[in-house]
Amino acid sequence: MSRTAVIAGNWKMHGTAAQARQLASGLAQRLGSIAKDRQVVIAPPFTSLRAAADAIHGSAIELGAQNVHWEASGAFTGEISATMLVDAGCRWAIVGHSERRLHFGETDATVGRRARAALAVGLRVIICVGETLEERDNGLTLEVVPHQIRAALLDLGPAAIRNVCIAYEPVWAIGTGRAATPAQAAEIHAKIREVVAEVADGNEAQGLRILYGGSVKPENIDSLMAQPDIDGALVGGASLDVESFARIVEF
Ligand code: PEP
Repeated sequence: MSRTAVIAGNWKMHGTAAQARQLASGLAQRLGSIAKDRQVVIAPPFTSLRAAADAIHGSAIELGAQNVHWEASGAFTGEISATMLVDAGCRWAIVGHSERRLHFGETDATVGRRARAALAVGLRVIICVGETLEERDNGLTLEVVPHQIRAALLDLGPAAIRNVCIAYEPVWAIGTGRAATPAQAAEIHAKIREVVAEVADGNEAQGLRILYGGSVKPENIDSLMAQPDIDGALVGGASLDVESFARIVEF
């Protein structure tokens, strides 16, 4: 089955609104027409969403957020709801990034709640999973990743799963310059598709876009995207530069 690729840029906690406007408009100009077989998403910090939305208006680039809360509103200081993201122009939300799991106590259960809230208002969701170096070294990758996926997809019907992408991001590859090899990533991506076929159904699993993340660069994107189960990339550092992100989009 051919799947539309997704290339998403996670800008993390970088830049002011003015810088976001500049980067986003640079991308909109550089990527004028995006091939029909790929979708491009940028996820700036919350404070830059509006500036980036204005800058990409009229282009094929779509806006995403780096996190989302599970409640619609209320006494949740510092959080942002899914409806607020839609209001700010978002069409996507990333949930469960390993930096959120590591530094902010995100658990499989909260990742699932965030995903369900975002899907309920029509956002597409990128659910991040991935093992630590210690887990990989202890041979636990094929336990940890399926567990994260089952927990995040719990109670989601096939219709909702159609709006989900999974990003496989081995923690040891994020921001380290040490990407997984295409073969290492492909092995886990195939396993992820198997697990989704168990919890949803075969059709949904076949249509699911599974992104690889972890030190994706212009130099390694082509070999990663050549793998049959790699359907896109979640890009951190290299998404902050117009030329390198554009080259990744043009794999
Ligand atoms: C990320 O932030 O999701 C990521 C993969 O970062 P980097 O590309 O910098 O490794």
